Amino acid sequence: MNFESKKVLIIGGGFSGMAAAIELRKKGVDVDIVEIDPGWRSYGAGISLGGATLRAFKQLGVLDEFLRLGNAADGVEILTADGTPVATLPTPRLAGPDVPGGGAIMRPVLAMILAQATRASGAQVRLGCTFTSLEQDAEGVEVNFTDGQRRRYDLVIGADGLYSKTREALFPQAPKPRYSGQAVWRAVLPRPPEVNTAKMWMGRVKPGVNPVSKDEMYLFVTEHRPTNDHVDPATFAPHLRSLLQDFPAPLLQAIRDQITSESSIVYRPLEALLLPQPWHVGRVVLIGDTVHATTPHLASGACIGIEDALVLADEVGRQPDISAAINAFEQRRWERCRMVVENSLRLGEIEMTGGSKEEHAQIMRSSLMALASPI
Ligand SMILES: Cc1cc2nc3c(=O)[nH]c(=O)nc-3n(C[C@H](O)[C@H](O)[C@H](O)COP(=O)(O)OP(=O)(O)OC[C@H]3O[C@@H](n4cnc5c(N)ncnc54)[C@H](O)[C@@H]3O)c2cc1C
Repeated sequence: MNFESKKVLIIGGGFSGMAAAIELRKKGVDVDIVEIDPGWRSYGAGISLGGATLRAFKQLGVLDEFLRLGNAADGVEILTADGTPVATLPTPRLAGPDVPGGGAIMRPVLAMILAQATRASGAQVRLGCTFTSLEQDAEGVEVNFTDGQRRRYDLVIGADGLYSKTREALFPQAPKPRYSGQAVWRAVLPRPPEVNTAKMWMGRVKPGVNPVSKDEMYLFVTEHRPTNDHVDPATFAPHLRSLLQDFPAPLLQAIRDQITSESSIVYRPLEALLLPQPWHVGRVVLIGDTVHATTPHLASGACIGIEDALVLADEVGRQPDISAAINAFEQRRWERCRMVVENSLRLGEIEMTGGSKEEHAQIMRSSLMALASPI
């Protein structure tokens, strides 16, 4: 399709939306992004990324910035509660022989890298703005915005996340996000020299650490919480410390001693959503967490959202029209996204029920292998 001079609107400036803007701009498409947050902020602690995400960064052109400001490393070390090494999960080098197979970075730093690349691409970003209505005809989509503007587009991409208003507008009957029964605690802490790649300890809860830069790492602890109740922030530090008390591993105890009421701790109940296809109505298509929000057991939520963007832009470039591009996009994405969401949920279930360690290991292995295949 000759897409030059065509106009695309992206609703939501998260990782998926920004990736879509960068890739579509490479094809000469006019791109507007509306992001509801006037500050375009990104919250949270660190984010862990596998080789497939680094491969996607390479295509986007942000890998060097990631390597400069984040941390890349090979393998995930698994340890017992007392710190005895059990195994190292291999992480294939998918972004090239010189690039380690995984890594992590502070979320706001990754958001800043992608925001700079988005602006540099020439996409027009409107902050503190969203749509109020989407009206389609055979040739395009008329969009009204909260800033009073009305514009016409050839394609609209909904990338506004788990609680997407675009999804609500397209599919009012769509399933709602589902609480998984687990929550995750995260804190950013100084990085001891022995933490040079991701480490995870086995126990009643699942703690792990991952370096996010040369000097810092983030701690994450996944906990089974049968109901999704409000947690008073005043209890965050003592609760996180209590979750680590049954782990005699000296490194984990040293980390535990650093957690105080001054620590920056983020608590997040884990929710998931897998929207059955179609993911589009006419010329409005959904990507990222709007259609496949996963729990972080495979550290691949951001990955599959960014990959959606790459695949959609690729199909827009190669198919004869928008409808064919959207259909081809959906076909290429379903199995991979289903696999990540469902396998992540299954890993969580095994953890909550104290299920088979062999099944857990087998799902981890097969999922990582599947993620390594090309998109
Ligand atoms: C606790 C937790 C830990 C995680 N850990 C990892 C991990 O280690 N590795 C990993 O790969 N993934 C992880 N994920 C998943 C990852 O964070 C998501 O998959 C990813 O952020 C999805 O990106 P997105 O752009 O699709 O959606 P979002 O990040 O939700 O972005 C949506 C954007 O749209 C904007 N928006 C919302 N509504 C509107 C509107 N009406 N109009 C305009 N804009 C709007 C929002 O402000 C936001 O900027 C984790 C998720 C959770 C909850």
